[in-house]
Amino acid sequence: MSDVFHRATDWEIVTPARVLRVTWDDGNVSEYAWEPLRRACMCAYCHGEGAYKGEVNEDTRFSEEQTTLKEVFPVGRYGLTPSWGDGHDTGIYTFKMLRRASGLE
Ligand SMILES: [Zn+2]
Repeated sequence: MSDVFHRATDWEIVTPARVLRVTWDDGNVSEYAWEPLRRACMCAYCHGEGAYKGEVNEDTRFSEEQTTLKEVFPVGRYGLTPSWGDGHDTGIYTFKMLRRASGLE
């Protein structure tokens, strides 16, 4: 069934636990800790593009602001964009990426 495209039906920012909780259309629920989620940002600024290496790697030390999840917006019907405490909101996390990261694909 791995060729079935699953979507998030709901998501919740759980501030006390500093996780993003995502509910999927097949009933699975995934939780993503804020800091690894921020580190996994695939936008050109964080992850780089072409010869530009990007600002974020496994050694990057984030401020509390940078790893504080403020809001999450849907991107079309295929992903989510988090808005972080430092105003960073250019990362797109596709449902496919998120499912894979939580071992569902
Ligand atoms: Zn980014």
